Amino acid sequence: FGLWLLLGLSLTFALLIWWLLGRPRSPNSELARALQAREFVPFLQPLVATDDEGIMGAEVLMRWQHPDEGLIRPDLFIPQAEASGLIIPMTTLIMEEVAKELGMQRALVPHGFHISFNISAAHCRDMALLDECRRFLVHFAPGQIVLVLELTERELLVADPQTLSLFSQLDEMGVRLAIDDFGTGHASLLYLQQFHVDYLKIDQSFIRRIGTESLSEHIVDNVIDLGTRLGLSLVAEGVETVEQARYLKGKGVDYLQGYLFGRPIPVRQFRDELQQRAMANAVQVVNG
Ligand code: C2E
Ligand code: MG
Ligand code: MG
Ligand code: MG
Repeated sequence: FGLWLLLGLSLTFALLIWWLLGRPRSPNSELARALQAREFVPFLQPLVATDDEGIMGAEVLMRWQHPDEGLIRPDLFIPQAEASGLIIPMTTLIMEEVAKELGMQRALVPHGFHISFNISAAHCRDMALLDECRRFLVHFAPGQIVLVLELTERELLVADPQTLSLFSQLDEMGVRLAIDDFGTGHASLLYLQQFHVDYLKIDQSFIRRIGTESLSEHIVDNVIDLGTRLGLSLVAEGVETVEQARYLKGKGVDYLQGYLFGRPIPVRQFRDELQQRAMANAVQVVNG
């Protein structure tokens, strides 16, 4: 009997070990592990001024540098990160990375350069965001960076007292707000009324159809009209063709962003390109 008991116990034990090792990790613990390992990295995509197409800023887009699966795009992990609340420390991580990498050679960064981060709704109720913005800005000279927070219209943002207080303190610090994916969400006009918004980013689904679908053109025209009347700056995202750029320029859109001007690239590579640009300008100055 003793032998059978021993055998039974060791079998149970072996099964337990097998289950512990073999069960799939939950998505949350996988994200938590990746955060610990600092696998979330910032890519930067240039933002150009419509008039001269000069780079005047960049949007920071998160990527997951996974050890086995390679580079993972945000659509595949941001929803889970938002649901678990991990999006907050993940965003903090990439803010620190960008500050470190660009701050290291801040002489390369033009004065008044815009840097925008995508911020989830949960983060807008977290007072720590104020300090995170402050810590970002100390890496640069006063006024060197225009820090912009992009709030997507797809997520419902509630104007509760905490959020409003946070936004008014951000405003005092000079941090600006952009409404991302404008025209796709639910609370657009309410947002503009309740929050001190500075930029509207016209969603790329409308930009993509410029020249092929008049309904999208009407929507673009109306957003531009609305933004202009409200004194907001307009950004078009997803600009891929010269025709789209020409159309948007003709309508008075202030800034353009899209593959036509540059894809998102790792922050260090972006810094190298700023350096090459600075060198090219210096050569131009020397040559008169
Ligand atoms: P978004 O903020 O609207 O960013 C614009 C997306 O359009 C980016 O996709 C960018 O790579 C892509 N894009 C830019 N130009 C073009 C173009 O000319 N053509 C096309 N087809 N696409 C273009 P990405 O990087 O995959 O990001 C997708 C979304 O994930 C973002 O949309 C944003 O909502 C979210 N996201 C990205 N990074 C973060 C982050 O750090 N935090 C949060 N909360 N969300 C993020
Ligand atoms: Mg964005
Ligand atoms: Mg403001
Ligand atoms: Mg967008």
